[in-house]
Amino acid sequence: MPLLSRSHRAALVSSVALATTLTLAACGSGGTSGGGGSGGDGSVEVLASFYPLQFVAERVGGDRVEVSNLTPPAAEPHDLELSPAQARTVGTADLVVYQSGFQAAVDEAVEGRQPAHVVDASEAAGLEAHPGEASADASEASEGTADEHADEEGADDGHDHSSESGLDPHFWLDPTRLVPVAEQVAAELTAIDPDGADEYAANLADLTADLTALDTEYAEGLASCASPYLVTSHEAFGYLAERYGLEQIGITGIDPEAEPSPARLREVADIIRDHGITTIFFETLTSPKVTQTLAQDVGVQAAVLDPLEGLSDTGSDYLDVMRNNLEALRTGLTCA
Ligand SMILES: [Zn+2]
Repeated sequence: MPLLSRSHRAALVSSVALATTLTLAACGSGGTSGGGGSGGDGSVEVLASFYPLQFVAERVGGDRVEVSNLTPPAAEPHDLELSPAQARTVGTADLVVYQSGFQAAVDEAVEGRQPAHVVDASEAAGLEAHPGEASADASEASEGTADEHADEEGADDGHDHSSESGLDPHFWLDPTRLVPVAEQVAAELTAIDPDGADEYAANLADLTADLTALDTEYAEGLASCASPYLVTSHEAFGYLAERYGLEQIGITGIDPEAEPSPARLREVADIIRDHGITTIFFETLTSPKVTQTLAQDVGVQAAVLDPLEGLSDTGSDYLDVMRNNLEALRTGLTCA
């Protein structure tokens, strides 16, 4: 067991605090499930496993639900660990919204606690494999020759969140893929709290309209760009790239903690020069150092793109951050 990083320890501490709150809340409502929450006063307890799922649950549930997030704000959801108290809340929540194959600790808790109502975003969103260029690079971080075959080998070499399926977990960066998840959340909430059926349906329609509008903004905003090449630190943007006709070039792979090999860094530097790429992107939650150093070495700009695995600014939401990302992309890729 490696030493816990600072952010990891911080995550654990705030997880315990959250778990305590959840336990108290669950006791108050008697932890009923399937018996019909009383509704209207936020009495339906929803547990989301990380931010984009929290956003969906909050928007669809509105005032009738109380949503808690297992991943603390601004923490990395990859490799989340749960306290025993948090694991118990998975069993007492009225609805658990999670993504199987992404956070092993949550998978385990769902399996062990058998919550009465569950939405699995992996099933709802239709995950795909996006074997990126850097994928095979990560865990055999030797100076190796393995890079050459990265594309063909696929993503599966032991990253926690994708090792079972080899599928790319980052579906939420294509806004249209949040819609089927929201539909399932609405269906489950309606089953738990039938009195809220009309409200959930109306909230779902609002959210769907917002996501559709965002999708249109992206499609129009990225329709004519000087460069289609999206060089990113961790390969979170495969679904976004696929939807809007970009090509993702990952520096480290799908696992944000992995360190790229010197060979991979040289390879990406060559790609940047060959294609005349002017901006490469790094993210907010993980260390930007690798990307910034690479940008300096090659003489290009480095800009922030937020993979939205957590929310670093609580004054904004999924839609705000996605619009900031679109502006960063339009500038970095020189879009008309
Ligand atoms: Zn990720």
